[in-house]
Amino acid sequence: MCEELGSHVAIPTGHNHAPGLDEYRGILRERLEALGAEIELIPGDPKPRWLLGADHGAPPPTLIARRLREGRPRILIAGHIDTVFAPDGPFRSMAISSDGATAVGPGVVDMKGGVLILIHALEALEEAGVDVGWTVLLNSDEETGSYHSDAALISEAKKHDFGIATEPALPGGELAIERMGSGQFRIEALGRSAHVGRDFTAGVSAVTALSQAVCALSEMVDPSRGLIMSVGPLSGGSATNAVPDRALAWGNVRFPDAETADEIRRMLESVQVNRDADGALPKVIVEHNFNRPAKNRIEATDQLAGVASRCAEALGQSLPLASTGGVCDGNILQAAGLPTIDTMGVRGGGLHTHGEWIELASLVERSQLMALTLRTLTEEG
Ligand SMILES: [Zn+2]
Repeated sequence: MCEELGSHVAIPTGHNHAPGLDEYRGILRERLEALGAEIELIPGDPKPRWLLGADHGAPPPTLIARRLREGRPRILIAGHIDTVFAPDGPFRSMAISSDGATAVGPGVVDMKGGVLILIHALEALEEAGVDVGWTVLLNSDEETGSYHSDAALISEAKKHDFGIATEPALPGGELAIERMGSGQFRIEALGRSAHVGRDFTAGVSAVTALSQAVCALSEMVDPSRGLIMSVGPLSGGSATNAVPDRALAWGNVRFPDAETADEIRRMLESVQVNRDADGALPKVIVEHNFNRPAKNRIEATDQLAGVASRCAEALGQSLPLASTGGVCDGNILQAAGLPTIDTMGVRGGGLHTHGEWIELASLVERSQLMALTLRTLTEEG
């Protein structure tokens, strides 16, 4: 598994790098096909144009490998094949520590290790003659918000009984059962350009209008109840001797539930100025898209987590439960009605940094846990 992980990690799949994504997806597709899965490639949807960095090439497809069984629970297992690392950056391959306990590399835990333990778990079940019905969904854009695969995730969620995602375990090996939601926004301010020296009073500063909106929003956040809003990056104007006629700010919000999400939407909209007034300046327009709904604690997911915990115990492992402010596709699946446990991947840390590492022993442990959980869900329905 270690060798295989090294070879997967060496394929660059960050920043929507199509050649790497295609190669890695192709390898996984073959393994899943060999298990008798029917393959479908769902074309990616475009993402909103106003998002920061939205024009990173063609939307990648989502791979769906179906091997459901009549009369068995339908289990959807979701993983992502993208990482956050640039294909031509300095962090490109896996290095194993001198004591062999850990390895560092781009995506070792998030989540090439998680995808690997899944493939091995499915192959082990097949070899042992345990007939589990599953669908594996592998998207290529989780790290950038799953805009291209959102519709595929929602449509698959509706066709299944249980959801599992192979995101890395939390730092102590915990299973996340509760997650905050997340959303993106952009504030665009429009003014009128004028020469600062010759015609200053004819100008309307977009930077001033944007700043007022940003300051107003900063007064509204309330982290004590999970209402979080961060603004940045931002830009405005093009020369110091011209009154700026356009300024932009992007930002991210986090919220614990749907009501708070609505409250944040209203806050964002409240700083708009002259949105629909023709020709009036300044104009402040806010776009928002809350792509990851909050994943609240629900009975059905608690039960699912209970099954995984029991399996961990039977294997002599521990699987404590926890909540996190991080988001993932588990948010989308559960919001679409599918009870989902989403940190069934490997253990490690340093996610999204050049120090990303994996605890190598977790490859086998978590593969066993995945296999036993799938078998138990199948047997107990
Ligand atoms: Zn991930």
